[in-house]
Amino acid sequence: MNVLLLGSGGREHALAWKIGASPLLTKLYAAPGNPGIGAEAELVKLDINDHAAVTAFCREKKIDLVVVGPEGPLVAGIADDLRAENIRVFGPSKAAARLEGSKGFTKDLCARYNIPTAAYGRFNDLASAKAYVDQTGAPIVIKADGLAAGKGVTVAMTSDEARAALDACFEGSFGAAGAEVVVEEFMTGEEASFFCLCDGTTALPFGTAQDHKRVGDGDVGPNTGGMGAYSPAPVMTPEIIERTMREIIEPTMRGMAELGAPFAGILFAGLMITDKGPKLIEYNTRFGDPECQVLMMRLKDDLLVLLNAAVDGQLAHTSIRWRDEAALTVVMAARGYPGTPEKGSVIRGVEQAAGEGVQIFHAGTAINGGALVANGGRVLNVTASGATVGEAQKRAYAALDRIDWPDGFCRRDIGWQAVARERAS
Ligand code: AMP
Repeated sequence: MNVLLLGSGGREHALAWKIGASPLLTKLYAAPGNPGIGAEAELVKLDINDHAAVTAFCREKKIDLVVVGPEGPLVAGIADDLRAENIRVFGPSKAAARLEGSKGFTKDLCARYNIPTAAYGRFNDLASAKAYVDQTGAPIVIKADGLAAGKGVTVAMTSDEARAALDACFEGSFGAAGAEVVVEEFMTGEEASFFCLCDGTTALPFGTAQDHKRVGDGDVGPNTGGMGAYSPAPVMTPEIIERTMREIIEPTMRGMAELGAPFAGILFAGLMITDKGPKLIEYNTRFGDPECQVLMMRLKDDLLVLLNAAVDGQLAHTSIRWRDEAALTVVMAARGYPGTPEKGSVIRGVEQAAGEGVQIFHAGTAINGGALVANGGRVLNVTASGATVGEAQKRAYAALDRIDWPDGFCRRDIGWQAVARERAS
């Protein structure tokens, strides 16, 4: 098979690594990719937001499958545009990607199908949103409806904070994404990520993970795209997984099919495990980054076989095998992240740092004058497997400490909750 992978982050490097190991693969292309992905794939200078250019490339290179990494092109309808040209694609249609592209859409679906989630209101004017906040009180959560690069959510501990977040949304801080807002109940519990591989009808559990969003050790400081992750998530016991499938995922699959927008692709449920059971925080319609990196470390089966089964509607006849080990990834970021990261500093020793049970995925790197340099906020994902999360953590940090990059930083406590649980048991 000739495969085209769209995207350029650590998530896509992990996907390229697994696709590259498939005996089904003839040739892998990646657009635009990064230097790490370049070791697995031929990099193509394509604007992935230009659907006509992507389609023309697929025709020219006889691409048998397109795998879409990020949400932007999915929400913009790239899967529909490719399918209209009879090009096979792994990723949901524009209508199905509304599960990520519109928080209000997802909340209404939850209400209609009795899917457990936070109580909410949808507003497209400031006055009624503020009236709802005044009536409900704090803590309360304000969310821009559309895609806002992970920045559209404010967990407000006071009404004043909530009102300020509403002002920001309606003043245009998130552009069109904030023209409508969802205001919702603050939930407490432990967060976890749950993934399903879906073919429009069937959803198969595809692993669990937990990530660390705050920039600093001890989960303090500003939010980031994620400073590290591990899998599996201990809070996702077989009982909680069974409830999540029955109460959240299956009604979602049914609801989307009834709306004429069956969901095919990766469904990523952000969950709050409350004392009343799992509740949906939000959906994403693609793999998480950096969660994908730990899932790929643990996946025993051929990824390309599984993606094909999802595209061909064959998941009812498919099973997925996982390694027994845990996996953990630590993000190395450029100084300044999540503000303005410093670009261009030289990174040495990446190849020597990898080894048994360790993969180093590139997220934001470039080659400059023959040297590997930082070219983004999150730059490398040092990823390791181990018999326990604790062992994977030790291996990941040992590898990370072999990388010579004085201008980079990382958290030193990725996986702390799971490691503490392992010690206690
Ligand atoms: P989201 O982008 O929807 O995943 O939200 C970002 C983060 O905000 C989540 O990972 C949660 O930590 C937090 N959050 C979102 N919604 C709620 C809620 N209703 N209650 C408590 N925390 C929330």
